[in-house]
Amino acid sequence: MHIQIQCCGIVLMLVLFYFYMHQKRISLDTQKAFLGVFWATFFCIVMDIVSIGAIQYRHVLTEPFAKFVAKTYLVTLLGVALSALLYMCVDIYTNKEDYQKQTYVYLLMTLAGAVGVYAAPLHYQYMNNGVDVKYTYGPSVYVTYGMALVFFVRIVYLLRKERTKINSRRREAVYLWLFIWIVASQIQFMYTNLLIVAYGGAIGIMVLYLKLENPETNLDRSTGLFNSGAFHQYTKQLFAKKKDFSVLVIVFENTAYQHVSLNKRDVIRMQIVEYLLKVPDAYPFKNAEDEYLIVFPDTGLAEKRVEEIRTRFASGWGEYNGDTVKPCWLFLPHANIVNQAEILSYLIRYIRRDESTFTEKDFLRIEKDSVDKIHHEREVVQLLLDAMEKDRVEVFYQPIFSTSEHCITSAEALVRIRDKDGKIVPPGVFIDIAEKSGMILKLGAAVFEKVCMFITKYPLETYGMQYIEINLSVIQCGYEKLARDYIDIMENYKINPKYINLEITESASTNAKKTLLGNMEELMNYGVRFSLDDFGTGQSNLNYIVDMPVDIIKFDRSMTNSYFENGKAKHVMEAAIHMIHGMNLEIVSEGIETKEQYQTMEDLGISHIQGYYFSKPLPEEEFIRFLEDSLRRNVDAG
Ligand code: C2E
Ligand code: MG
Ligand code: MG
Repeated sequence: MHIQIQCCGIVLMLVLFYFYMHQKRISLDTQKAFLGVFWATFFCIVMDIVSIGAIQYRHVLTEPFAKFVAKTYLVTLLGVALSALLYMCVDIYTNKEDYQKQTYVYLLMTLAGAVGVYAAPLHYQYMNNGVDVKYTYGPSVYVTYGMALVFFVRIVYLLRKERTKINSRRREAVYLWLFIWIVASQIQFMYTNLLIVAYGGAIGIMVLYLKLENPETNLDRSTGLFNSGAFHQYTKQLFAKKKDFSVLVIVFENTAYQHVSLNKRDVIRMQIVEYLLKVPDAYPFKNAEDEYLIVFPDTGLAEKRVEEIRTRFASGWGEYNGDTVKPCWLFLPHANIVNQAEILSYLIRYIRRDESTFTEKDFLRIEKDSVDKIHHEREVVQLLLDAMEKDRVEVFYQPIFSTSEHCITSAEALVRIRDKDGKIVPPGVFIDIAEKSGMILKLGAAVFEKVCMFITKYPLETYGMQYIEINLSVIQCGYEKLARDYIDIMENYKINPKYINLEITESASTNAKKTLLGNMEELMNYGVRFSLDDFGTGQSNLNYIVDMPVDIIKFDRSMTNSYFENGKAKHVMEAAIHMIHGMNLEIVSEGIETKEQYQTMEDLGISHIQGYYFSKPLPEEEFIRFLEDSLRRNVDAG
């Protein structure tokens, strides 16, 4: 009997199975489907040997029984094709019902194929020119190959049609698997005494295993915990099954190990990892350096386990107590507040990045409102992207009145976005998010360019104007190429820099101060002037004014308002005005809404007033009409 090749196949598969079973695995559907292919192939090889034996001993076993065995082997080939098709479908039909539907359809097809195989006649060859060969042929074999071909064609069709849904490595591996089968069956077809189809199946399994299904690919090498790829796959599967679960995130910020000597840190890390590996009812993952994720498939047990884990951490590690090695905790009791693995990872990243909230509390529960915030943020980012792409960024201008010249002498440029329904979105909605996402650099440059275009179109002096104030975000101030970019834009539009006044804020002057000062110097040398915006908010500090080479101080609306409401604030503001004037700087008072407020500011000697008393921020054309009207009124007045 020539069964050496088949025996080699069996040995190969047993070795693979040994390795597979001895590795830590996570319960993934793809791995279950892989086991399906594995066992189908294994059974197929075994039946190959059995059928060769049956042909050999057909006299003892009787002819019909030998044929029945040989046909059963053919049916197992269909089983392999079926299992491969289902393996592919795991990626495509993530919804359980859809997957089951596909399974039933293909199972029925296989059953129909099996009936055909048993019903059709089968012949076999056991001696060829005196050489011992064992192979079968005839209609039963053709039904098998025909049916297998249908499945293979379906696999190729799905590989191409659903390419975006199938993991690219799985696609490659399945193509390779198919290729091996086709080559093996071609060889067997040409050299009928070389029975290598089933062995080809074993090689195919090895390819799938090595390229994709080796459980080791889901492990983090340094800790033995599952890795971030496994977290993604596993949570994706749970979401697809609409199963709720809990996630605990344990983060060791830089400060967590501060008092632990460097060589002890790894020892502690290993102790922590060993502990995490033993937490019951949980899957621990390592997501990033010093970030561990623990998934609890049973939300009912999660709270209790989380308490236990925290108690364990509080008791300390080695000679270090719980206060020395102190992580930050994030707990998501119900992951179903989001509906996708990608959004879950984004949520975790988002909260980590938002470090102010994260590190302030060492235990943060993530509830629905965090998700709403993220959705809102994503919507705003989309709105910004759309607006920038479709040129829906607009600049409004708010006039600034000079008390000495008694006319409008400047204006502040204030950005607006028009949404797709034509509604105006104010900067309060998007500036923070533009800063967080880094889009502020592009947005700021777009605003600056629009102001330059405006100055080119409407020469300021014609309208009695001296300059336009433009806001700079903290992020822009810390951007090294800011000065260069802005000078390029001014040169491009041939703008005299005296028409430009850039507003910086106090927060900008603390963060990235060196870069800011560099940018300011370069721009001032070019001829641009600066204002300090938002004076009187937050931790205002008169030292900033001394430090910063600005010409104008802008009093925030909150400061001017409190002047009218609060006796103490009155004194603070009067002292500030006194000092600022002493430094020969100008003041713009923002948020002036009434005649009384205006009068008071004028009496205090404030040189410039901005507020609804004169006008709200206006779109370009309206602003020009406003300027023309006020020029006309001035002329009429004499
Ligand atoms: P800001 O630079 O302090 O601008 C003054 C804000 O006060 C403007 O709000 C203006 O409409 C409002 N305002 C002025 N006078 C009055 C008043 O009498 N009463 C009331 N209730 N409000 C008044 P807006 O346009 O919503 O801008 C808000 C903030 O958004 C700005 O505060 C600025 O920090 C930021 N921003 C606006 N445009 C830009 C921009 O192009 N770039 C950057 N980075 N930030 C901008
Ligand atoms: Mg401003
Ligand atoms: Mg302001």
